[in-house]
Amino acid sequence: MPQPLLTLAEGVHVHVPADLDPARAGWCLSNSGVIADGGEVLVVDTGATERRARALRAAVAAVAPGPVSTVVNTHFHGDHTFGNFVFRPEATIVQHEGARAEAEFAGLHMSGLWPEVEWGALSVSLGGVTFRDTMTVHVGELRVELVHPGLAHTGGDAVVWVPERSVLFTGDVVMSGATPFCLMGSISGSLRAVELLRGLGARTLVSGHGQPGGPELFDVTESYLRWVQGLAADGVRRGIEPLALARETDLGEFAGLQDPERLVGNLHRAYAEERGLPEGAALDVVSVFYEMAELHGGPLTCLA
Ligand SMILES: [Zn+2]
Repeated sequence: MPQPLLTLAEGVHVHVPADLDPARAGWCLSNSGVIADGGEVLVVDTGATERRARALRAAVAAVAPGPVSTVVNTHFHGDHTFGNFVFRPEATIVQHEGARAEAEFAGLHMSGLWPEVEWGALSVSLGGVTFRDTMTVHVGELRVELVHPGLAHTGGDAVVWVPERSVLFTGDVVMSGATPFCLMGSISGSLRAVELLRGLGARTLVSGHGQPGGPELFDVTESYLRWVQGLAADGVRRGIEPLALARETDLGEFAGLQDPERLVGNLHRAYAEERGLPEGAALDVVSVFYEMAELHGGPLTCLA
């Protein structure tokens, strides 16, 4: 029996991994969405491993009969895209054009970061259709709007908005119970993106990680990012490195968010922006992952 999906509104469902535990790490455990109407089905994000993707496919079939005709990826990270191949060839994969390029470049790199994970027989399925700013997909009678909110979590983010059901799938632009992560995107861009998404007026938010919620999820992400900006301004002024600053920082109201070690990655990005580098300027992601592991006190655990 596949894990049943949670129904958010008529024809709109979410799959939150059953083994997600807010009290421990959450790397690689991502949510998927299902939008179904009139015998047509769209899936948002496909999980990290073959096992999870196949279980998702079975769970989708239980709630929404009919072939999955469209898969939308909220961004290129493997925990949101590696399961795409399970929905091929019936489904068309839709990605922001930036996400497609990033996914092509990254390949299965993420699986190499965590060789102990049982990834399955993965193959990368890139977008067959890409978009630049916005795109509308009609699922039966339901209008599904894809919006690129600018450079935010990554350069190729896409959010999925179902206005008639007031449900917004934010991908990792917004986090729920987990620490936001902008190392591969932009802090200031993420703040603009949050403002843009607020303007859509969604009642229900599904973030890329964690439990669904309401507009209060915007508040946590926004206040965390502003807090990081403030820390970075101070750190740059004092000439202290991001890792040292992260070590001495009291997380305060953000202490309960999963994966707090992301602070050092966020600080690297915020430092770059504080120093006037262009948003999205290339940073040494691999060395920052080592620093996050150092802050964490050991290797980061991928729960895929
Ligand atoms: Zn991500």
